[in-house]
Amino acid sequence: MNLDLTEEHELVRRTVRDFAAERVAPAAEELDREHRFPYELVKEMAELGLMGMTIPEEYGGAGADTVSYAIAIEELTRVDSSVAITVAAHHSLGTLPIYLFGNDEQKREWVPQLAAGEKLAAFGLTEPEAGSDAGATRTRAELQDGDWVINGSKMFITNAGTDISACVTITAITGEGEISNIVVPNGTPGYEIAAPMQKLGWRASDTRELSFRDAKVPEGNLLGPRGKGFQQFLEILDGGRISVAAMGLGLAQGAYDLAATYARERQQFGKPIAKFQAIQFQLADMATEIEAGRNMVYKAAWLKDQGRPFAREAAMAKLYTGELSNRAANASLQIHGGYGFMDEYAISRFYRDQKILEIGEGTNEVQRMVIAKHLGF
Ligand SMILES: Cc1cc2nc3c(=O)[nH]c(=O)nc-3n(C[C@H](O)[C@H](O)[C@H](O)COP(=O)(O)OP(=O)(O)OC[C@H]3O[C@@H](n4cnc5c(N)ncnc54)[C@H](O)[C@@H]3O)c2cc1C
Repeated sequence: MNLDLTEEHELVRRTVRDFAAERVAPAAEELDREHRFPYELVKEMAELGLMGMTIPEEYGGAGADTVSYAIAIEELTRVDSSVAITVAAHHSLGTLPIYLFGNDEQKREWVPQLAAGEKLAAFGLTEPEAGSDAGATRTRAELQDGDWVINGSKMFITNAGTDISACVTITAITGEGEISNIVVPNGTPGYEIAAPMQKLGWRASDTRELSFRDAKVPEGNLLGPRGKGFQQFLEILDGGRISVAAMGLGLAQGAYDLAATYARERQQFGKPIAKFQAIQFQLADMATEIEAGRNMVYKAAWLKDQGRPFAREAAMAKLYTGELSNRAANASLQIHGGYGFMDEYAISRFYRDQKILEIGEGTNEVQRMVIAKHLGF
């Protein structure tokens, strides 16, 4: 058994850690306060090869493995969640469905510009009436004279409405009991993108409600065999859970870092608060749980890289790090005292950004349902 990361993994960590410290950290507070999408950072991350990490080089990606990708998402989230989710949603939800299920022509059309990070893509599964019960999709696509005519709406969709968004892959009912995934390019008449939603956290990321009123796309925009949309989105969610699990890990680590630094600096009763055992125990608990979470995330990613079943481990990692990041953000803010409640302290942003990690890509309850199913219940 070998738990060492490879040279390549360590290089990814160093590169992304440096980028996050030098470029993301100085901008994060302002982007959050102004609810501003990080276009400049996306451009720089594209140049670093972070927007299409696991896509093969042949399609314009970096050809990295899932462990490298998880490390990159962890390191970005350690500094800022909005930037991290922009990369994670674009990669795992936006680009992968087209790469995994598209035919050669579809892949050639879409993937190179997405993997290069010149354009962004989104995945539209959630609807106003179909959240955890994602199979309850109501959006319909009807085949008329060689076009899919789409009617319906999607809710809370990440990356669909930026100035560089190219397309959204949506799930739609294409026949009796039949769900398929269809690529809808931005600019399609009848495809409307509402204004950005105002959120508790992830304020610099793009979240929109989408509506389709007789939006027409060519028949060839359907991904894979017609009617396979349900299985396809389950597969996408399994992989996406590794992304969100890596975010939970990174957020917890970032919250720990902030708490450890602050505890060494803040003096009360004539000494740094880090000297008090009550504070040390909180830091010790955080570090212990982070270690457990990291092992879970890397194991799920490693299993995926080995081509072995990973869905159970991905759901477990996502559930564990979602709840871990909640405890870590809470403890870190507590260690910051009143200053932690102030906007100029990064922990207040971490605290707000944390909650969605227990909701997106399947709530904690949904993860427990998935895990129980894998346990045979
Ligand atoms: C910022 C943000 C970004 C997002 N980005 C995307 C995106 O890019 N693409 C996309 O498709 N979606 C996206 N989502 C949607 C997200 O995946 C859903 O919000 C999530 O799946 C939960 O669905 P819901 O919000 O409708 O909650 P609901 O399903 O209505 O759940 C409400 C509550 O009921 C519980 N619940 C539901 N069913 C059960 C059950 N059977 N047993 C026990 N408890 C249950 C849930 O756990 C939850 O606590 C995003 C959401 C947010 C907030």
